[in-house]
Amino acid sequence: MSQYFDVAVAGGGVIGCSVAFHLAQKGAKVAVVEKRTLGGQASIVAAGMLAAQEEAAGPDAFFDVCLASRAQFDALVPEVRALSSVDPEWETAGIWRVAADEDEIPGLLAKKKWQEARGLSVHWVSPEELKEIHPGLAPAPGALYCPTDGQINSARWVQALEEAGRRLGVRFLDHAESVQFVREGRRISGIRASADLIAADQVVVAAGAWTPFLLETLGVSLPLEPVKGQLMVLNGVPRAFRGPVYATPGYVVPRADGRLIIGATAERVGFNVRPTLAAQRFLADWVARWCPALGPMPVMEFQAGLRPGTPDGWPVVGRLWEFDNLYIAAGHFRNGILLSPWTGRYMAEGLLDGRWDPRGDAFSPERFRRASEPARPA
Ligand SMILES: Cc1cc2nc3c(=O)[nH]c(=O)nc-3n(C[C@H](O)[C@H](O)[C@H](O)COP(=O)(O)OP(=O)(O)OC[C@H]3O[C@@H](n4cnc5c(N)ncnc54)[C@H](O)[C@@H]3O)c2cc1C
Repeated sequence: MSQYFDVAVAGGGVIGCSVAFHLAQKGAKVAVVEKRTLGGQASIVAAGMLAAQEEAAGPDAFFDVCLASRAQFDALVPEVRALSSVDPEWETAGIWRVAADEDEIPGLLAKKKWQEARGLSVHWVSPEELKEIHPGLAPAPGALYCPTDGQINSARWVQALEEAGRRLGVRFLDHAESVQFVREGRRISGIRASADLIAADQVVVAAGAWTPFLLETLGVSLPLEPVKGQLMVLNGVPRAFRGPVYATPGYVVPRADGRLIIGATAERVGFNVRPTLAAQRFLADWVARWCPALGPMPVMEFQAGLRPGTPDGWPVVGRLWEFDNLYIAAGHFRNGILLSPWTGRYMAEGLLDGRWDPRGDAFSPERFRRASEPARPA
């Protein structure tokens, strides 16, 4: 069966669903083609921290879009929740980064300084205050507290975006066994998904860590790589922690229902998503070091997902140079949940209004163009 759409999106994770939702909100006719199950792969596993300030490496272009995206949740969550009837458990209680030892304090204070210079709210928490806020946490020499960071239940957030998109008319095709581009010179005229032909004016690839496989079929290579992350889910006590707490090399994220997410490994081991014994030991050691009282808590499950990583750690968002109408929205690595609102709006405004947020220039696929082109003889 052949159908016409304004935009076809390949990939039904948080990025594909957010792009589709934002496009549909602006009146576009959109189809999402998903090879497996809707909800994504990394997206349903993610811890869901909206750690714009806490994870920031410095005051750069990436930090700017992380802040912009975090701010978008304020209006977006109520809208998506109303349309979908799914509560994504969005919370804005802040995130704490504990100094694991005295040596980490100068770096955290330096971060506090440059963020304050940007007019942002960020506080130093003394060991005594920390004990009072998170009684279950082992003693530490202090912590940085970013009160405007937050968290969301990632699996519910993708489900909410999908349902809200459906309400606005987005067509979702899942379990598409084969997904192929239909190419006409510099244009992609559609996507062939199993027996369906999705003809479209514009095409967006949002296939997370699998994006290079789709692009390979067009002779294009982008340096995206899966970075495996493993988590442990404990059945805890509701409100045992006031919010997510990082302590190098791990973190605990308390969910509203009492579950505690303990994360996470970062492994470059290809497309293998099986939980491993080594990761379980790493996570158990982190709990023993930082939350020893959690020892008797039952383990509900171990999970693994593949973050879509890039060489510079920044996403790849924008038009692919060899084509007039093929766009990439992938490579969100550790921050795809946080960046889902900004990416959705960026693509929708760009594709439908021709208004590309200049902050997105830094994430263009162009930066990998030279590396991907075959070397020419001198
Ligand atoms: C352990 C862990 C913890 C994390 N914690 C956080 C966090 O706290 N905060 C945060 O912001 N981010 C976090 N992340 C990162 C976040 O999960 C990712 O950046 C984000 O989910 C990427 O979304 P995506 O839609 O690009 O990819 P995915 O969710 O992987 O979705 C890609 C989709 O494309 C589909 N697909 C693949 N091939 C094809 C094809 N040929 N055709 C069509 N569809 C295809 C896949 O089946 C999948 O459904 C974490 C990740 C992990 C693994």
